[in-house]
This record gives sequence, C-alpha cells and structure tokens, in this order.
Amino acid sequence: MAFEGILFDVDGVLVDSPHERAWRETLEELMQGPWRDIAGRSRYTPTGFDTAVYLAEVAGKPREDGARSALEYFGVPDAAGLAAEYATRKQAKIVGLIQEGAFEAFPDALRFVLAMRDMGLPMAVASSSRNANELLARIVVPEPMPGIRPDPLGKEPGTTLVDLFDANVCGRTFPRGKPHPDIFLAAAAELGVRPEGALVVEDATAGIQAAKAGGMHALGVARLGDEELLWAAGADLVVQSLDEVDRDALARGTLARGRKAA
Ligand SMILES: [Mg+2]
Repeated sequence: MAFEGILFDVDGVLVDSPHERAWRETLEELMQGPWRDIAGRSRYTPTGFDTAVYLAEVAGKPREDGARSALEYFGVPDAAGLAAEYATRKQAKIVGLIQEGAFEAFPDALRFVLAMRDMGLPMAVASSSRNANELLARIVVPEPMPGIRPDPLGKEPGTTLVDLFDANVCGRTFPRGKPHPDIFLAAAAELGVRPEGALVVEDATAGIQAAKAGGMHALGVARLGDEELLWAAGADLVVQSLDEVDRDALARGTLARGRKAA
C-alpha cells in the first residue's frame, strides 16, 4: 500500500532552529550576570553545556521542565525555584533569534519536501511549537534546487517553506501533546488521509511514539547521532539525513535506505 500523505515535525526535521543555542546563551548570560553568585556554587561552565547535555536534559521537554533539568544537571542550588526565570528568558532569547533570522532549513529536508511534492504526496506540518509558523514563513525556497526539476511548485519565486504544505496544524493547542498522537491525527484528518496511510517524519522520541500511537508509519531523523533512541521509540526507519531515504521505495509505500547522503 502506498503512503497517502506525509506529516512533518518542524524543529530538527525541517528547520535547524536555534533552541539549543538559545538555552545555552541564556544560561551563560545569567551565570555571568544576575546569577554570578549562584554560578560559583554550581558545576556550571559555559563549555559544559554541549549538544549531549542539551539532548539529554532539555530537548523535547516542556520549557520549564527542560530549564529545571538543565539547572539540576549543573548542580545549581534551588534549580526548581530558578527554572521559571531561565525558561522565560530563554523564550525571549529565541524570539529575538527568530526575528534576526538566525536559523535555516536543513538542505536535505528542502530536497526531500520538494521531491515529495513532485511525487504528488499530500503534506502537512505538525509542530507543537508556537514558533514553527514564523520559522517556516521566513524560509524562502530556493529555485531551482539541485536534483529537482525547475519549478516543481508551479508557484512564483519567493515561495516560503510554509507554502509547500497542504495542511498546517502548527502551534494549535491540543489537550495532550506528543507522545500523544492527537496533533498527528488532526493533521492526517486535515489532509484527508487515514492514519494507517500516513508517514510521520520526526527527530524526537516523543514524536516517534506519537506517530506509532496513532497507528502511523514513522521515519526518524537522527541528525545529532541519536539513532538508537529513535529506533527504541519504535521508528520504522532511522536516517541521519533525508537524502538517505530511497524515494522510489517510498513511492511504493516502503521505507528503505537508498543512496547515501549527497
Ligand atoms: Mg523536532
């Protein structure tokens, strides 16, 4: 059975969004400024907040939970009491970074989305982040792209990433977030595809779990070397780059690794 439609997460799948940078820079500013005394009583160092720490402590968690977890990791006294301030400042930081345009689309994701569109597969974006629509609307799709025939979009140049999707449930509030499947079920319904015909593309374990809980197919994108976590979450295939996905197989409804990343 061929896939009927594809549902994309945004942060970490389509867009290299500056969440990790925002968390890191916000904590550095706090520790060098208002929290200077606290810094001296913790294990915090600026270089200690690396990608592994971000993935283990912060990524995919509700904002304040991630803040508290990071502060606990660094042995900050009263991490729970300070988490709200850290989370609030991080949100202000990321809003600023987005307004500056401090992010870009992953090139392999752009190629993949354009190829799927060329193939005629209905596509939706489904991110729980309230920043997702602004990110997508600020990314202009370059044309023509290598390996893609000119103007597969039938749209004017200047099309932004958000214009490429047939349905968009980003930022919509659902009673239960990922790993509950509600957001993906809503996206599939808007596309008019059945859950069992939907393919979800996700970079987070909670997202893979949400796809499987909804009876959907799940393609994991492990850009940060976290393949094992995504396999363990139930992904049907895990790749490091969407260039690795065999598109001919996908057109037949099969998930397989094909050519290596260009
Ligand atoms: Mg994500």
